[in-house]
Amino acid sequence: MSFVDLIETKKAGRVLTSDEIRGTIDAYVAGKVPDYQMAALLMAVRWRGLSVDETTALTLAMLGSGERYDLSDLCDRPVDKHSTGGVGDKLSLIVAPLAASCGCVVPMISGRGLGHTGGTLDKLESIPGFRTDLDARAFRAQLGTLGVALGAQTASLVPADRHLYALRDVTGTVDDPGLIAASILSKKLAEGARGLVLDVKVGAGAFACDRAAAGILAERLLTVGRRCGLEAVALLTDMGAPLGRAVGNALEVAESITVLRGEGPAEVRELALALTAEMMVLAGVAEAHEQAAAAAARQLDGGAALERFTLLVKAQGGDAGIIEDPRRLPAARHRIDLTSPRRGHVAAIDARRVGLAALALRAGRTTKDDVIDPAAGVLLRVGVGDPIDEGAPWITLHYGAGADLDSARDRLAHALVVGEEAPARRPLILERRA
Ligand code: URA
Repeated sequence: MSFVDLIETKKAGRVLTSDEIRGTIDAYVAGKVPDYQMAALLMAVRWRGLSVDETTALTLAMLGSGERYDLSDLCDRPVDKHSTGGVGDKLSLIVAPLAASCGCVVPMISGRGLGHTGGTLDKLESIPGFRTDLDARAFRAQLGTLGVALGAQTASLVPADRHLYALRDVTGTVDDPGLIAASILSKKLAEGARGLVLDVKVGAGAFACDRAAAGILAERLLTVGRRCGLEAVALLTDMGAPLGRAVGNALEVAESITVLRGEGPAEVRELALALTAEMMVLAGVAEAHEQAAAAAARQLDGGAALERFTLLVKAQGGDAGIIEDPRRLPAARHRIDLTSPRRGHVAAIDARRVGLAALALRAGRTTKDDVIDPAAGVLLRVGVGDPIDEGAPWITLHYGAGADLDSARDRLAHALVVGEEAPARRPLILERRA
């Protein structure tokens, strides 16, 4: 079948065979399919969807596009956690060293920011000197010594996802459950994970804006993961408001360090402990979630998680001095406060609008070639439920050269909702699926 016929087939809503999917991925990675044809196919998939069989075939075809790490000599059950993407979601920076300090082996291949959501690699690279381009040997060696390595896809690890991810980001084809599932699962299988904890974000700041869409995404990830040999658990978690107070790369690293010290925003700590406990049970280093969470809390409060993070930063070439002195992180040249138009209680803070504002300040990319400003972003001065006075600052914008301050202000104009009464507290973890 020609590639045009393949696009027509999907456009008409028909199911593609495993051979057709494998042939498509092989040809694309070999440079035999131009981006415009692949973009057309992705858009047909975005509208017609992929079945579970098609998603499984796509995951395996993407996995087969590169090498696959075998970590069986290091550990029986390496575990990882992956988020479907949110605003202020710095959990990987906390959970990876925390889980390793609890006895897990955590091979974590992460992504960059996608759309209005942040990416772990961009956050880590705001640490001066930090390298994410670990080759297979360095990745394995670090897992052997520290039990944790945080890296980027290499040219040989799921190259299909590297190309497709970048193309989806700029063609409006990110938010399809089958494409998201294949993208995440192919990377996790390739890095050698046997267990996976999925943080499926729900709400304005997530790709799945409502509970039904998040449930479909979680089910797809779990079903296809299982078919491909990954034991997986999904937590559906609230992403209506940004997670924590910091949004932006260096700002989020600084906030992660406070949580690793046993301090920081309570909701970030709560979610970090819940995700780590799931990883510990999947890895077989704990039997029950409650005990696992208590053990993880001790590692945070006793300094073992921070120590593991320090070793990780040093091992990957970063300036570990940022841990004692976060002023060594990139700092924005300019700061400006936006104020509340009225007195009351914070009823909502729209995570998507905040994420888009951070993007306008250059904390993320709008084209493939954009260079981000590691210091750019926002710091929330209040959280949902807090009292606020008229004229009091609710957010501080951090920015430098090239930031579009007007656009950031526009995006934030309706992001803060102030009501008379404090709203009922919403649970952070909405549901667990296995
Ligand atoms: N994270 C990924 O790795 N891939 C996606 O498609 C979305 C979030």
